[in-house]
Amino acid sequence: MLAVDEARRRVLGAVQPLEPRDSLVGDALGGVLAVDLFAPHPLPRFDNSAMDGYAVRAGDVVAASEGAPVELDVWGEVRAGDPGELEVVSGRAVRIMTGAPVPEGADGIVPVEDTSEQSGRVRVMRPTTIGRHVRPAGDDLAEGDNLVRAGSELGPGELALLASMGYSPLPMRPGPKVAVLVTGDELIAPEAAAGPGQIRDSNSVAIRALVTESGGEVVPFGGVADTPEAVTEALARAAETSDLVVSSGGVSVGRYDFVKDAVEQLGHIDLWRVAMQPGKPVVLGTIGDTPFLGLPGNPVSIHIGFEQFVRPAIRKMRGCRDLLRPSMTATLTETIEKAPGRLHFVRVRLSPDAEGWRATPTGAQGSHVQSSLVDCHGVARFERDATVLEAGSKVVVEVWRLPGEEV
Ligand code: AMP
Ligand code: MG
Repeated sequence: MLAVDEARRRVLGAVQPLEPRDSLVGDALGGVLAVDLFAPHPLPRFDNSAMDGYAVRAGDVVAASEGAPVELDVWGEVRAGDPGELEVVSGRAVRIMTGAPVPEGADGIVPVEDTSEQSGRVRVMRPTTIGRHVRPAGDDLAEGDNLVRAGSELGPGELALLASMGYSPLPMRPGPKVAVLVTGDELIAPEAAAGPGQIRDSNSVAIRALVTESGGEVVPFGGVADTPEAVTEALARAAETSDLVVSSGGVSVGRYDFVKDAVEQLGHIDLWRVAMQPGKPVVLGTIGDTPFLGLPGNPVSIHIGFEQFVRPAIRKMRGCRDLLRPSMTATLTETIEKAPGRLHFVRVRLSPDAEGWRATPTGAQGSHVQSSLVDCHGVARFERDATVLEAGSKVVVEVWRLPGEEV
């Protein structure tokens, strides 16, 4: 049996980052930047005022106090956006607004609260010092400084900085088009009335949601009948219209599991038994030039298989720097046991406590048990050769979602 990390290494070896496309900075939320970007100019670009007030020469107002204000001539006004062509010489002040360029000759700002102005003269009631309330050019970033690295996912903060620097459009890697195919004659739509023995197709819903959540673009294919012809035809069509094909079901050793044979016929396949639970059988293949990942049909297996293999593959195609979910250490609240030989991914709920986080198994862990995916925050790793994890011990949890976090 193949170790999970080795299986993931092979999956990641089979997919490549997609070609970048231009996107306006205002449309790039959640996208992945394709290149390193550097500051084309200092930030701020010019010395500017941090306050509404008066630009002065600090030396002129050293003696200013409430009882003995210093008076200066007001020599005009600079607003944010003005080119800042005024000059301050000794004995003069220029009225200035926040963000406006500091006039030539001025070296300090007196906030408006420390002044009163009347008929072209300003009374300064408190001194200022050189550089006070001035944001110097390059205070934040010097020209050439690194702004955002290739492979970063852009959130509001990164986008705002890039916008300030005039970076729009941006070279972004798109999310891959992912064809989602489920196999099984027993499957019916969630909206349909279920006849005897029929099973509602929940995997389509789950996989589409997982693809969207990980930044891929779903190409829906729906259900495929359990015949060699139907499976082959659907896989060929799926590969033509997508960057990655993901299927559920039909990769076990049952009489109606035709996915392996179909992929073999259309391209190339590796079938693995991965030393994990749930989700042991995994198929990696190519159909033409399109990579293919086949997951077993059990509803929990597809979640675990998706998290271990498909999400990292999608993230690599998007050009993300970090391919794996974040992990945290948490305190296990219940003793759990298993047989050695496979890495178990134990679905857990996380809750904060005084020392950090507690992880509580969400219930029965069978690969058909869907109730344990509700309010599930991630999976605790119960390592391959371990047989018992005591209540109170530390476990590593691969975090899917923290309590209170948006989906
Ligand atoms: P398979 O891997 O095709 O043998 O499927 C294993 C189990 O998962 C069977 O009980 C299937 O009914 C169930 N299953 C397969 N596909 C789906 C699906 N799309 N939605 C819900 N359950 C499924
Ligand atoms: Mg099946």
